[in-house]
Amino acid sequence: MTAVLLLVVYALAVAVLAPPLLARHWPSDRAPRLTVTLLQILTCSFLLATVGAGLALAFTLVEGLSELSPALDSCADQLPVTDHGSLGTALGHLGWISAVLLSARLLYCLTATFGTAHRRRREHSQMLRMLAKRDDDLGVLVLDHPSPACYCLPDDVVITTGALERLSAKQLEAVLLHERAHMSGRHHLIIALATAIRRTMPHIKLLAYAERETRRLVELIADDAAVARTGAPTVAAALAVIGTAHAEDAPPEYNPVPETALAIDSSPTLRRIRRLLRLDQTLTRRTHALVIAATTAATVLPVALLAVSGATLFRPCPPDLDSGWSPAVVMSVAADGS
Ligand SMILES: [Zn+2]
Repeated sequence: MTAVLLLVVYALAVAVLAPPLLARHWPSDRAPRLTVTLLQILTCSFLLATVGAGLALAFTLVEGLSELSPALDSCADQLPVTDHGSLGTALGHLGWISAVLLSARLLYCLTATFGTAHRRRREHSQMLRMLAKRDDDLGVLVLDHPSPACYCLPDDVVITTGALERLSAKQLEAVLLHERAHMSGRHHLIIALATAIRRTMPHIKLLAYAERETRRLVELIADDAAVARTGAPTVAAALAVIGTAHAEDAPPEYNPVPETALAIDSSPTLRRIRRLLRLDQTLTRRTHALVIAATTAATVLPVALLAVSGATLFRPCPPDLDSGWSPAVVMSVAADGS
């Protein structure tokens, strides 16, 4: 039962504390890549801990499962709620049913999210083959549309004639670098994973927060890739040109960017421009070390917790003074097979 408590406390702590702590105290805008990694660790470990807690409950309180290990069975028999009582058995069955349902739901959401995104991208690519023209010099598909927009599919960058007319050569280079950073970083897969995990348990704030932040942060990662080659003022100017073209309230007919594409203006543009023009966007050495240490701790903690929970589940119990049971007796009984 210690394993169940450890896993439940971890899952609750991560789900409740992580979003406000990260929002208030974590320098996500200055370390977007590390933050995306951290969010993936937190969300995956939350799901693992939740499924693990259900399985641990089942192994402790379902009679057939607890008897797989003599030590586990004897420990379970010392609990106030045991696998011999109706309440204990009900809790045990609730544990494995929850674990199986959650795993099945996760599998379904992964399949549905990745499958739908893949199908929509394929349909959009087929449409582009008819509507867009390839520009071999730029290595992009050009769509005849008055709104200045640029977005990428996994294998292609698409830009509108409106964007080509408005962007200077340097700004165009920045825009294309941004989109190619999305492609090389496989950001569409990172977003699809965050979306599938959020859909698995849509009411958990941590998962919604992680998806929202992942969508925003991959834009910052792509901005930084463009800044490294063209400089922050150029990227900010390109964002101003592209981003003002179709604000969030623009009617859909003015927006040529499909829902599944990663567009250069798909996150609040003004905040990104402000970030690019701030002089203090790089982390100090001390903050960088702290961010890496915290991310490492967030990786090690759930792995250690799962290992400790597993070890706790099957460890020999202390002697039960009321019944006269001791680990030596259990070992002897197990060896005799009686
Ligand atoms: Zn983008």
